[in-house]
Amino acid sequence: MNDMEGMLKPGSLKDRTIIITGGGTGLGRSMGKYFLELGANLVITSRKKDVLDKSADELMKETGGKVLAVTCDVRKYEEIDNVIKTTEATFGQIHGVLNNAAGNFISPTERLSHRAFDIVVDIVLKGTYYTTLAAGKNWIEKKQPGVFLNIVTTYAWTGSGYVVPSACGKAGVLALTRSLAVEWAKYKIRSNAIAPGPFPTEGAWSRLLPGELVEKFDPAQRVPLKRVGEHQELANLAAYLMSDYSAYVNGEVITIDGGEWLRNGGEFSHLETIPETMWDMIEKGRGK
Ligand code: NAP
Repeated sequence: MNDMEGMLKPGSLKDRTIIITGGGTGLGRSMGKYFLELGANLVITSRKKDVLDKSADELMKETGGKVLAVTCDVRKYEEIDNVIKTTEATFGQIHGVLNNAAGNFISPTERLSHRAFDIVVDIVLKGTYYTTLAAGKNWIEKKQPGVFLNIVTTYAWTGSGYVVPSACGKAGVLALTRSLAVEWAKYKIRSNAIAPGPFPTEGAWSRLLPGELVEKFDPAQRVPLKRVGEHQELANLAAYLMSDYSAYVNGEVITIDGGEWLRNGGEFSHLETIPETMWDMIEKGRGK
């Protein structure tokens, strides 16, 4: 499928101010671009100032919207506080936070040092709860409603070998999403999550499928629909969950993976490799 279109009505996020952690690259950038097209003001944050500034310039040119780039390491609470203060000074009230920043790499777990484990869990889990705590406290103090959208993975609930720190971190983010959906609903703060399957990005592909692995383990072949996701498909879902159209959706994780995790969890799903001729033989052997 090519040239997928935006799904929401024009102006669906008009004058909303949305912060995206890790918003200068990959999926964060694509979701941010669509938020801008729908009328939002965007704040993108990450550690690399040059990447952020370049993306902010490009996004403003591409959409005509307003983008603020603020450097911030999500592992440093004071830097997140600074993002919130700078955002309010520039745009006023904050309406949504998209926790998208993450770190990950593949490795047998016994090869990891405890520090390598810490680095991934600190970015994924600590980074998300620091950002959530800073933004949530601010909303509660000012009696403002808000929306959290957290990007997890399907192995947040299945677990997965070779990405164990990430699996632990994402599982924690999912628990945070569901817990606060209930606890902070009284403050009119919603929390939801998206679990994407494979969506090509430079970051994820280079870290998770380095070198020849991308040919050897073609991600599309693990997906029943036999393709990877398009960024606009994810952006459509994210914009819906950020918008008032989803005002009654709270505490959900929505999977967008073409059926990948179910297929690979199903005990007999691999039988799709059996050719028709062999099925004919099996049927004959079974008799009527
Ligand atoms: P990406 O382009 O590498 O995005 C990760 C972003 O996080 C980068 O912009 C990076 O920017 C930022 N980041 C990393 N460490 C940070 C830190 N300490 N503080 C602040 N920002 C930090 O990869 P992506 O594929 O778009 O991934 C985006 C999200 O989707 C992640 O949560 C990932 O787990 C999830 N996801 C992706 C896929 C996929 O197939 N692509 C599948 C499932 C889930 P800096 O380096 O400048 O800090």
